[in-house]
Amino acid sequence: MNRRQTIPKHLRYTISDFNRQFPDDSACLEDVMQLRFPGNVTFCDKCQQERKHYRIKGRPVYSCDHCGTQISPMAGTIFEHSSTSLRLWYYAMYLMASTRCGISAKQIQRETGVTYKTAWRMFKQIRSLLSETDMQLEGSAVEMDEMYYGGTSKGHTGRPMRGDKQKSPVIGIVERSGKRVGRVKALVTPDVTSERVMGIVHEHILPKSTVFTDEYIIYDRLGARVKEHKRINHSSKVYVMGDVHTNTIEGFWSLVKRGIGGVYHSVSQKYLQTYLDEYSFRYNRRDQGNLIFRAFLQRASQLVAPPAVKDSGMTPAIQEPF
Ligand SMILES: [Zn+2]
Repeated sequence: MNRRQTIPKHLRYTISDFNRQFPDDSACLEDVMQLRFPGNVTFCDKCQQERKHYRIKGRPVYSCDHCGTQISPMAGTIFEHSSTSLRLWYYAMYLMASTRCGISAKQIQRETGVTYKTAWRMFKQIRSLLSETDMQLEGSAVEMDEMYYGGTSKGHTGRPMRGDKQKSPVIGIVERSGKRVGRVKALVTPDVTSERVMGIVHEHILPKSTVFTDEYIIYDRLGARVKEHKRINHSSKVYVMGDVHTNTIEGFWSLVKRGIGGVYHSVSQKYLQTYLDEYSFRYNRRDQGNLIFRAFLQRASQLVAPPAVKDSGMTPAIQEPF
């Protein structure tokens, strides 16, 4: 499948475009500067007011045009204290943004010669910036379903048997596309209960929505909270009845499962949410072509909280096969 053919020309962004726009670290640094401080204007601590800042030649800093105090646009971002070149960070994000299925640390190791550990850590850090906790779903028609990641499959539903601790439950909600492309939220949850479902509905689904689910018992109370609750009876092998189905959310689950299975091989429970965030982040912008890459860059230029524990001793949990 050639995905590019479906992207309108003005939204295309090829590797040549990337190489032209970001030929070196300096171009990337200027981009970080513009993302953080548009027009090079930012508050100068010494002057105690907004000042224009100019690039210092040969160093990754900018200085106040009035008093000369220097600032680093990378300070406080994932790029700070990184021995990896800024351009490589940009390239990693370009790769992440240009795929639907995800990109393995192995591939960037092969292409650029960084160690596997470095590549893996870069992706982990980028992924950690992609959650959209505050995003409010607004679709008038949404589908809700759960997925179980890991463990062994039992039964045709994939739902775990009692006491199966190997599986991580994930609850997902997706808007059906209307005027705007439908967006998804996928949340790793400690359990799958009616209370859990109702909490998620309360937080993420507008009361005026119509919600489509299957017949699973955990969705029984949903009708009381939303405008309408429609259910498809999967256990009697019915999958679509008019507009009643959960095919949209199941499409997202299969994208995630194929992606994680094919690209990452497997993912530990600890990091599952961040991988879901990565897939959701792209999925929610799938109509935006090259703007997905800009969205990655915007996230990466944000300030991050310093890690509570320095994780320099951490090693990748698994080796990705590709
Ligand atoms: Zn100043």
